[in-house]
Amino acid sequence: MAAAESDGDPPSASRSEFLNFSAKDTASRWLAAADLQQEVYRHLAVYVPRILCLGPSGGSGSREEQREEQREELACQLLLLAPMEWLLLGEEPAAGLAQLQENNQPSPLCGHVFKVGEPTYSCRECAADPTCVLCMQCFLGSVHKEHRYRMTTSGGGGFCDCGDAEAWKKGPYCQKHTPTDNSRDTEEDPVAQLPADMVARGYSIFSIVLKYAVDLLTWDQEEQLPAGLEPLERGDTYYCMLFNDEVHTYEQVIYTLQKAVNCSQKEAVSFATTVDRDGRKSVRYGDFQFCDQAKSVIVRNTSRQSKPLRVQVMHSSVVAHQCFALKALSWLGQIIQYSDGLRRILCQVGLQKGAEGENSSLVDRLMLNDSKMWKGARNIYHQLLMNSLLMDLKYKKIFAIQFAKNYRRLQTDFMEDDHERVVSVTSLSVQLFTVPTMARMLMVEENLMTTIIRTFVDHLRHRDLQGRFQFDRYTAQQAFKFGRVQSLIGDLKYVLISRPSEWSDQLRMKFLEGLDAFLELLKCMQGMDPVVRQVGQHIEMEPEWEAAFTLQMKLTHIISMIQEWCSADECVLIEAYRKCLGALSHCYSGLPDGEQPISLSLAGHSVETFRYQVSQDKVSIHLPVCRLLAGLHVLLSRTEVASRFPEQLPLGELSPPLLIELPLRCLVLCAQVHAGMWRRNGFSLINQIYYYHNVKCRVEMFDKDIIMLQAGASMMDPNHFLMIVLSRFELFHIFSSADVRKRYREANKDVVQQNNTLIEEMLHLIIMVVGERYVAGVGQVEPFDEVRREIIHQLSIRPMAHSELVKALPENGNKETGLERVIDTVASFKKPGVTGRGLYELRPEWNKYFNLYFHHYSRADQSKAEEAQRKLRRQNGEDTALPPPLLPPLCPLFASLVNLLQCDVLLAVEGAVLQWAVEPSGGGWTESMLQRVLHLVGMALLEEQQQLENSSGDDDVTFNYTCKITRPGEAPSTSGSVLALLESLQNAPHLEVHKDMITWILKMVTNIKTMRERTSSTSTITISPGQGPEETVRDKDKAERKRKAEMARLRREKIMAQMSEMQKHFINENKELFQQSLEELEASTSATAENRYTPVHTCAHWLTSAAADTQVAERRQLVTCILCQEEQEVRGHGRAMVLAAFVQRSTVLSKNRRRNLPDPERHDPLFMHPDLSLGIHTASCGHIMHATCWQRYFEAVQLKEQRRQQRLRGHTSYDVENGEFLCPLCECLSNTVIPLLPVNHSCLEEWLETTNQQIALLHSANKKQSDGQSPVNHLEGRVRPTGGAEPVVPEGFRVDFTPQNPFSSSISEMITTFSMSTYKVGLKVNPNEQDHRVPVLSWSTCAYTIQSIERFLMDEEKPLFGSLPCRQDDCLSSLTRFSSACWTAAPLKTVHTHFFRLFAALVPDSQVENTPCILDIDMFHLLHINVIKYLLCVCVSVLPEVSSGWQLWRCVKAGVLPFLRAATLFFHYLNSTAPPADLLVAGPGQWEALCSYLSLPSNLLQLHQSQHTQLEPWCRHPGVTQTLQGGGVIVRFPRESNRLIELPEDYSVLINQASSFTCPRSGGDKSRAPTLCLVCGSMLCSQSYCCQTEVDGEDVGACTAHTFTCGAGLGLFLRVRESQVLFVAGKTKGCFYPPPYLDDYGETDQGLKRGNPLHLCSERYRKIERLWRQHGIAEVIGHAQEANQTLVAIDWQHL
Ligand SMILES: [Zn+2]
Ligand SMILES: [Zn+2]
Ligand SMILES: [Zn+2]
Ligand SMILES: [Zn+2]
Ligand SMILES: [Zn+2]
Ligand SMILES: [Zn+2]
Ligand SMILES: [Zn+2]
Repeated sequence: MAAAESDGDPPSASRSEFLNFSAKDTASRWLAAADLQQEVYRHLAVYVPRILCLGPSGGSGSREEQREEQREELACQLLLLAPMEWLLLGEEPAAGLAQLQENNQPSPLCGHVFKVGEPTYSCRECAADPTCVLCMQCFLGSVHKEHRYRMTTSGGGGFCDCGDAEAWKKGPYCQKHTPTDNSRDTEEDPVAQLPADMVARGYSIFSIVLKYAVDLLTWDQEEQLPAGLEPLERGDTYYCMLFNDEVHTYEQVIYTLQKAVNCSQKEAVSFATTVDRDGRKSVRYGDFQFCDQAKSVIVRNTSRQSKPLRVQVMHSSVVAHQCFALKALSWLGQIIQYSDGLRRILCQVGLQKGAEGENSSLVDRLMLNDSKMWKGARNIYHQLLMNSLLMDLKYKKIFAIQFAKNYRRLQTDFMEDDHERVVSVTSLSVQLFTVPTMARMLMVEENLMTTIIRTFVDHLRHRDLQGRFQFDRYTAQQAFKFGRVQSLIGDLKYVLISRPSEWSDQLRMKFLEGLDAFLELLKCMQGMDPVVRQVGQHIEMEPEWEAAFTLQMKLTHIISMIQEWCSADECVLIEAYRKCLGALSHCYSGLPDGEQPISLSLAGHSVETFRYQVSQDKVSIHLPVCRLLAGLHVLLSRTEVASRFPEQLPLGELSPPLLIELPLRCLVLCAQVHAGMWRRNGFSLINQIYYYHNVKCRVEMFDKDIIMLQAGASMMDPNHFLMIVLSRFELFHIFSSADVRKRYREANKDVVQQNNTLIEEMLHLIIMVVGERYVAGVGQVEPFDEVRREIIHQLSIRPMAHSELVKALPENGNKETGLERVIDTVASFKKPGVTGRGLYELRPEWNKYFNLYFHHYSRADQSKAEEAQRKLRRQNGEDTALPPPLLPPLCPLFASLVNLLQCDVLLAVEGAVLQWAVEPSGGGWTESMLQRVLHLVGMALLEEQQQLENSSGDDDVTFNYTCKITRPGEAPSTSGSVLALLESLQNAPHLEVHKDMITWILKMVTNIKTMRERTSSTSTITISPGQGPEETVRDKDKAERKRKAEMARLRREKIMAQMSEMQKHFINENKELFQQSLEELEASTSATAENRYTPVHTCAHWLTSAAADTQVAERRQLVTCILCQEEQEVRGHGRAMVLAAFVQRSTVLSKNRRRNLPDPERHDPLFMHPDLSLGIHTASCGHIMHATCWQRYFEAVQLKEQRRQQRLRGHTSYDVENGEFLCPLCECLSNTVIPLLPVNHSCLEEWLETTNQQIALLHSANKKQSDGQSPVNHLEGRVRPTGGAEPVVPEGFRVDFTPQNPFSSSISEMITTFSMSTYKVGLKVNPNEQDHRVPVLSWSTCAYTIQSIERFLMDEEKPLFGSLPCRQDDCLSSLTRFSSACWTAAPLKTVHTHFFRLFAALVPDSQVENTPCILDIDMFHLLHINVIKYLLCVCVSVLPEVSSGWQLWRCVKAGVLPFLRAATLFFHYLNSTAPPADLLVAGPGQWEALCSYLSLPSNLLQLHQSQHTQLEPWCRHPGVTQTLQGGGVIVRFPRESNRLIELPEDYSVLINQASSFTCPRSGGDKSRAPTLCLVCGSMLCSQSYCCQTEVDGEDVGACTAHTFTCGAGLGLFLRVRESQVLFVAGKTKGCFYPPPYLDDYGETDQGLKRGNPLHLCSERYRKIERLWRQHGIAEVIGHAQEANQTLVAIDWQHL
């Protein structure tokens, strides 16, 4: 077919082509051609440039552009893809595809590719590793729904593993993907199912299309096209193409674009968004020069600080073909969904080797050019790989091999590239390596383990002279690279995550080869970042330490996994041990050289060692080779390989002193840091020590060092071991010197103190070396025991939440801690209340396992636990000794460790300390030191007791500590035996605290002696330590002892408080280490907030007389100013007293959120519409001040703020410029004050009488009006009424009457202040005292506040009176009195005008214009007058649904009730009349009580009749008729209270809902932070450029913008992906709040980090709702910001 001329308008050209084109004919022409590829290419060459990329395209999203896109899409399908489908299928595509689908054998895998933010589920019980996930559909149809599952949101990419038998230990198939019986054998070739000719055609068309796509996506020329695709004619049409990079920020790109292509800010934002999403975007279209110009501007503008943005000027035909290449790939992906046979064909085509041999298949070419492609292209071909190769089990393997072969190159490309890993082909590793059989196959065939490790090592090039890694002086650039390299560790983890159960020789060989490579890596780490103690000067620059620890942390799991692999095979274990030992010898070569040998002797023993001092020489915390060896050593013991094949083990190759040397140095370093000897080395070292012990690192650091010491000690003479320890701690001289007793006379106090700490640390270390037996292999325990012991010790500190326990336990590679298996055996669960979280509490029977010197306790933990345990014992009436617990027996390889407890050197040390303790401490010894010695003695005694119990006769008990301690001490210590010392210390007055422990020890000694005597005579009899001989202590002493113990306890508590203070300080310094969850914060602030409200003194000062007596004329009211503490009486002419108050706009009662906010200038607030769409709410904390005191306070706040503004602008939780301040007493957010006014003396009857007179007068005036006279004249003239008696005109009801202002000037001033605040806030205008609307708003806020309180009390089912907190009580009474007095501050004329208009509405009058229809007025806002018109409104609102009179009565009654209640509240607060008793309780009987209180007839009919005349004019108003005829919306009464939206019970429903939510502004893009408005249920696209809106000249995020339409500036949101509630108020304030969703452990999961299933806690949701309805949100925000200054720094307006 001839190509149409393309001169004309391009779209019309294609239209004519649509008509003439036949896909079928084209396909058959292609088939007939000799060279199919040539023919297809010719077709593409003609049509592609003509269909795609025809001219400029602005920012996406415009209507025009969308239409253009659709047109392109259609043309592509009809002109380009349809012929290919015809060719492939040989028939009408729709029919052909249906046919194919019928025979399709769907992949057993689900393969659903996750969108960003979509929920994914994993099963903690059944998943092979944490990367195995299910999509929501599969999950709901799987067995795991009932298991302990984990829920997370996907970061995009990756697919559902449903159907992969290797991914799941159990239940690999969901209901939908369970293989059916009639499914074909998976081994069968699916291609054989297809007709032979289709197979042939499939091969050829697939290879042509795929090759075309690959050629074009990897094409790097800007002008030319591949052979055969050159366009017929080349116009001078180019695109200026901008590419994405990770270097430049959004702002930079937007700014540059505005300059370079002269576009609007909005277009630039759109360009930038697309570049970020798709990886490239054409920003200009035109001739070459035009585009090139833009390019050079962009390059020039962005090249200043960094490398320039990538820009290319590309010919339009090249762009068009690249576009079509993407469409073609998507097409391939779709076609193969119809048939597994076609999918297999595509796999074969893709992986077929090309002409160039190795790495020349099309898939290889794509992979190897991955880093050169733009984001959009990568995403599309990755998706195709997932749909094809990864869905076909056979080809997945072949692809995996290719992937592994190219691994090093792909990774190197990735390092050079700057894109995120998600869009790199390397991220496919997770799909390949996590399949255990695949990983093992790749390890054996492609030596994958070695490859990964070597690649990793090669990319870390910074080494010191010894070849170790060197991270100090490392730049941001290197840090970035380092970050990327870490993904390799992730790959290694995938490969190792499942331990093989069967080993082939080849696997052994390859694993050991990998281990060699790994040891090379560890050797580079061994001894890195060494430190030297700084003396004199403080270090100048904190050395970099984080990189090394990051590496250690990342490798922790790998090291553990390697040990697991080793433990699975004896040969491997032996060989690995050998290799590791070899590596260690290599590290040690040269170590002892140059260090002088010395000889030490103590207590009759001597040992050779060399001189080395941690405090002077280099020392490093990084000893991974030693620690791996320690791990393997334990495995030798655990698997009993050591005892079965001792001849194969090179145990003698390294001497034990060398084995312990480096770990010992590291532990001594920690001790010295604690002793304060390394202060000048700065925080870097403190952080390192912290991480060394931290749960994330300790398993392969601290724990292994202890094990290494245990291993070494068990192979050495215990005396020698201890002497070396003493020497490394630099304490040897203290215990060996001739006169150990005199040491406290040493001159330098600092040195004494340092040494004291060191001695404590050393004793602690000995306790750990002997006592830490809960590692399987060291002691005879199971992993279960180890976890249980950790939990017991955590819970000994205090009851803890599940997440706290999880955090305290190390996770394994599968992110499991083993907590669940253990927790219920030792603890009981306590459910949470409305705040706080569920807690686990240790059951009392486990207390006896408590070990004060538990090795994972930090100092703070230890002191907290000690205190808690002692308290517990006191509560139980027990003594306060905390003896060591019974220990599990050691494994044979470690058995000799116990001898440490009874060796001579330790006895000497114990003797020395006890000797020092005879005299009160003068700094020469410490109580902790003594405590540790006593603990060691206790351990020894327990050991002896256990051996005695387990032995059959006396002979095999080798442990005879009791015997040894009765021996007198040897020279030089001339004192008595250890036992004698203990006995003498027992009653030493300065050792009261330790008395219980010493008593326990002495009892034990007696016990053991008895046992020994018995065993020597008869057989073993167990005697528990509790049943010793009678105590000798007399009761008289007991009381005294208790008193002293109490004092000692108090002293210690003080010390502990200090310590915990120091700990807190440390926490503050290291914030990121201790991410304090917001919830804890919230709990603490809410607790303090509650305390703040409790003071009732303000109430107490309301000196009203007996509440029941309303007739007492004189009532005095005395209040105290919180600022000056002076008492003051509230009087009309006294000094003004004010209440701190907060006025805010509110939509809480709104029945119409769509109503636009009023125009501040023109809005007339006199009549409130009954939908209450916008009210003004006033609240107060109830704290009273003198007006003058407050003014002074507020001026001081302003002044402080002005001074502060220079430094930290706006860093407060309140906005002084808007008049905000914090209540000086309770820090409650306030923005104005309400004046306190005296009680109005008139009683209700009086008032009603006056009102009735007024009404009567008006009636008459109304009638007169028909005579044409204005009502004003009427009143003025006091005309006689035409009928009936002339009404009495009450005083003041005359226009010429000028009332006396009853208030002093200071009170008047405050009245104005408050009126102005309500005016300013209510209308959002600047203060203007002249505005006639001022008094109206003052009244309005009173009405609205009363209504909202009435509604709240109603819904909470609380009585009308007596249930309000004092602060609300105070606030309401001030407010109502104020509202009755606010007229005094306004010009009289204004008041009159309002008055007339109000009356006009009540007494409709056709002559007064603009009278609103009665249905358009909220009656309570007009409370001044009467009830009946309200009745009418109610009648109208219920009429349509009422069928009987009785029902009418009920409906009317229900409708009127809220009005009466509010009115009652009003009168109560106005007059301080006592409420009837019926209203002090909730429940029935209210109606009568209300009516009688308000002096209304309780029979509505009566009321109706008596006021009949008044009703009629209202009904005649045209608006009423109109509304009744359906002309308007009727607000129903009673107005139903607003509630927050309903939330689903299961949180994942919300996540799912949010994951399909797309940004409303950027054409179908997923929103990154979908956020739900809890008030109206709208989903918003928060925290994103795309949805920013301008509000008052400032760009704000979607949430803030929404608050202005939905909540008058205040909003409550749920950030779905973070599981966090967000409160926003105004533009600058906000805070996060715990969400109402809890997991089964009663905890929230803010940030969705833990992934436990979350369920709605309706109590908590109700709490949030209550907060909202009580207008407490702004206050919560204020308190949160005050408590946490970092919250102030968040740009809330951008959310
Ligand atoms: Zn699925
Ligand atoms: Zn499934
Ligand atoms: Zn499961
Ligand atoms: Zn005062
Ligand atoms: Zn206060
Ligand atoms: Zn958006
Ligand atoms: Zn909303």
